[in-house]
Formats: sequence, structure tokens, C-alpha cells
Amino acid sequence: MLKINAPNYLYCPFCKSQLAQREDEEIIRKYCPKCLWVYYPQAFDSVAAVITRNGKMLMVKRIREPFKNSWMFPGGFIEFGEHPEDTLKREVKEECGLKILQSKLIEVVQTSDDFRAPGNLVFFYKVKTSGRKIKTDNEENSDIRWFGIKKAPKIGWKSQKYILKKFFLDSKEE
Ligand SMILES: [Zn+2]
Repeated sequence: MLKINAPNYLYCPFCKSQLAQREDEEIIRKYCPKCLWVYYPQAFDSVAAVITRNGKMLMVKRIREPFKNSWMFPGGFIEFGEHPEDTLKREVKEECGLKILQSKLIEVVQTSDDFRAPGNLVFFYKVKTSGRKIKTDNEENSDIRWFGIKKAPKIGWKSQKYILKKFFLDSKEE
């Protein structure tokens, strides 16, 4: 279990009263003394696509913080109501200009290094795509490239480094 702090909300999102605290099943929780809403912190969810082809993997270069100018497996946050596979389809199209032929969930990794989303759960998928022409979204990324599995560029996220190591560094061929 990660030791992470949830966003420290001060007011009730429904009636705007100031939140109070009480013990609930041995956990200190914030709640609204007026409408009795209880704050149960939730982690964010996101997906990342490990797209491989001919022994190479596709990565994009981030334009923004966190980890500005580092490379990553393309992906993004799951929109409210979206299934992770829908997010995967959307992000692979937006960030790479490619269509998914096949996808398989490889692992869910919880992260502690994203200040925007404490405890973010990342659903990593291994993805096969169709289409030759790659094109990224220039509002999110400054570059997109295929890399040899043993020639990975500088990666920021711990979860992505972990997946790279686990699935690729030891693999002789993809
Ligand atoms: Zn309230």
C-alpha cells in the first residue's frame, strides 16, 4: 500500500459547509456535518499503451510537466464513465494517429510520482496497431518515435520505467 496524501478538501462539494473529521472504521475521514456527505478519497485512473512493431516500441515526448521533455508510452487519464479500453483507443488515435488491432492488459501499476493525481492507477496494455503513418498531438507532445527495445530514451514516470524493465530489457526479441 502506498503512503500518499489525498487532496485536502476543506468544504462540502454539495452544500459548501466546512468539513469536519471523525473516525470511521478506524480511519479518520472528513465529512460534512450539515448534509452528512463523507469524503472517501479515490485514486485517478489512466491507461498507457505499449505499442510494439518489428521489435520496436512507440513513444512520445512530453511537452508539459510532470516530467516535461521526457518520453513515455502514450496514454492518458480515463474520462469519467469511460472503460479503460475506450480510453486506450482514444489516446492511441490522438497521440499516435493509429488504430488498435489488438490489445491485452499487462499490468495495473499504482504511482506515487504524479502530483496531479496521487495514487494514480495506470492500466498498461500491450497494443498492436494498424497504419504506417504516425502523428502525435502537438498540444501534448513534441515528438513521436519508434525505439529499439534496448535503446529506450529518457523516461520520467516510475511506473513506465518499471514496465519497460519488466517486459523489455530482458527480452531478446519482441
Ligand atoms: Zn454538505
